[in-house]
Amino acid sequence: MADRIRTRELLSCYHCGADGYDLYEQLEDWMFGVPGNWAIRTCPDCGLAWLKNQPVVEDTPLLYENYFTHEAVEPDGAFKRVVKVGVSARLYGYNPKQRYSRLAAFLASCIGPLREVAAHSVMWQKAQDGGKILDLGCGSGANLYHLQEMGWQVSGTEPDPEAVAAAKKLLKTDDIFQGFLEETAFKENSFDALISSHVLEHLFDPLATLKECHRVMKPGAQLTFATPNIESLGSQKFKEYWRGLEIPRHFFLFTEKSLREMAAKAGFNNIRILTPSCAAYSVWQGSYLLKTKKSLPGGIPLNTSVLMRIRAILFWGWEFFKICLGSPCGEELILIAEK
Ligand SMILES: [Zn+2]
Repeated sequence: MADRIRTRELLSCYHCGADGYDLYEQLEDWMFGVPGNWAIRTCPDCGLAWLKNQPVVEDTPLLYENYFTHEAVEPDGAFKRVVKVGVSARLYGYNPKQRYSRLAAFLASCIGPLREVAAHSVMWQKAQDGGKILDLGCGSGANLYHLQEMGWQVSGTEPDPEAVAAAKKLLKTDDIFQGFLEETAFKENSFDALISSHVLEHLFDPLATLKECHRVMKPGAQLTFATPNIESLGSQKFKEYWRGLEIPRHFFLFTEKSLREMAAKAGFNNIRILTPSCAAYSVWQGSYLLKTKKSLPGGIPLNTSVLMRIRAILFWGWEFFKICLGSPCGEELILIAEK
């Protein structure tokens, strides 16, 4: 690994141009061991937060040397399938080929946090049988695999060549393109839906990418992007140890306001922002390990104790309860917008 990543300072807000101030300093990469001392800066106006010392474009691959987006996709257990297939079929009008217990799906759909998990699995997209969906930064195709099973005709973009190969094999398609969206040169009005899960925060120029998404979508198509919420309950509680910061690979961390405004700037209509709690369970465990051990190898909490898991479930419940009372404090922001 390189001794040092070349960076340049970003002092004013990428989104609104206001002077920022330092929020957290002396941070390290406790997940993948990229060298350097890092800082997070934030905007007093729109609340956007960003990596103060932004890596230069040529050094970006060094941030991902030990980072994997191409692990094998594990089959879901029976319960998870009921939620992902049965509940999302009920909520979003899908007619899946897979069999599932309608009674179990009905019962699961009565539980709010499970409805959120189901909605996330289809990225809040209503059924469009045979519709063309693009997943920006699709990794090894886990999300697309489920969407393909639910009736979508799937495509993806992904910079990691090994992940591209894994996704092509998993999805039995050649419509997975290596590189960034801007490099693929899709025709205008190509897709009926566009999704992206935890990619926006990794980009140098998220507004340019949103504009390109808008261009390749058909009129009326829905975009759904998931990204960490810097105003989440976990972020408030764990501060510089919050899992969502993921120093130094997350260049921008959004607030509801900054994300909504950026989507409008990119030309989108009917913009809605949700803050679901589905990530609270893993974010609590990851943040707790970062705070107590300053270490979270691979970014994923593994073999955690029963007590930790109980505390994470309680945190998840508390966050869900606060969201129900109107607080936008879920661990993720979900941008839903139409062309
Ligand atoms: Zn700003």
